[in-house]
Amino acid sequence: MASTYLFHGIDGQGKWSMAIALTALLNCEEPVTDDSGRVIDACGQCRNCRQILNNNFPEMYFALPIPPHKNEAEAAELNIEYRKAKKKEPYRIITSNRQLTIPIDTARFIKRKTAIKPDAGVTRVILFYQMEKMLPAAADSLLKLIEEPPPETVIILTASDPENLLPTIQSRAQRIRFRPLPDKTISRYLAEKYDILPDKAAFHARLAQGSLGRAIGLIDNEDESAGRQMAFLLLKEMFTGDTPSAVHAVVESINPRDRGAMENILGHWQSLISDLIYVKYGKSDSGIINIDVAGELENLAVRIDDVNNINAMVDDMKELQLSLRRNIHIRPALAAFTLKIRRYLA
Ligand SMILES: [Zn+2]
Repeated sequence: MASTYLFHGIDGQGKWSMAIALTALLNCEEPVTDDSGRVIDACGQCRNCRQILNNNFPEMYFALPIPPHKNEAEAAELNIEYRKAKKKEPYRIITSNRQLTIPIDTARFIKRKTAIKPDAGVTRVILFYQMEKMLPAAADSLLKLIEEPPPETVIILTASDPENLLPTIQSRAQRIRFRPLPDKTISRYLAEKYDILPDKAAFHARLAQGSLGRAIGLIDNEDESAGRQMAFLLLKEMFTGDTPSAVHAVVESINPRDRGAMENILGHWQSLISDLIYVKYGKSDSGIINIDVAGELENLAVRIDDVNNINAMVDDMKELQLSLRRNIHIRPALAAFTLKIRRYLA
């Protein structure tokens, strides 16, 4: 066992579930063994396992991204809510229209609680979930703990992109990369757990591009399909409208205060652009994703006459995503983005 792990990969691929499973394996009172006596799994039944699976094992600590709050007590409440939601559906990607951060209060709480050694035979686990959402002050105060975990302690960090973390943290942790899940795995889970028809499950799985969490979001969030519709209409306007109306449509349709919705639209733009590449050049990992608008995408693809231009679009989209996360002025950024996209069109 390493003392610090870094689970990385896009959200909704099972990093949380893996952290829970690992904690259970380390603390199970009656683990399952193979013929030669090697531990192969947690029992899932003993007291420790049950507490861990309920997200309330006293020696598992959670540093979670939560919305703004007044004090440490409120932060603790939000933390409990988050764990409850994850107990109900461990693959759900928890989003909010307010900015989520791992606050300094959580860092203080964890530092205080982990100053004392755990009971004999217990492995303490500290999960830093979505580490890139940790405020710099909180990260600074926990750096020592993360770099040199105390004995009998395992630290699990998760991040969608490990390159965003401090180099000292990156170098201390053993990296484990999570890969996109096969469509079949996603659609089977959806059909079993959410009782939806196989055809619909398969469609959502395809849209979700390897993220079970994204697929669940599509199902339980009506806004998601509205968001996708909106993303497509805006892209179409950018490609076919005149410049003032395209800029107006993009700037006016996106609410700069609703971060969740904005990230959502950007996500859909990315999948639509990758479909355009497929339609135009036949290159893609997954074939066409937005099958329902395939015909219209072919019409839009006519306006692309240079592969460099579409690559530039992809780069600009990534840049826009970064700048929105940095909280820069959103409307001017959207207007500038629209103008840039139009310059790439034939
Ligand atoms: Zn057990």
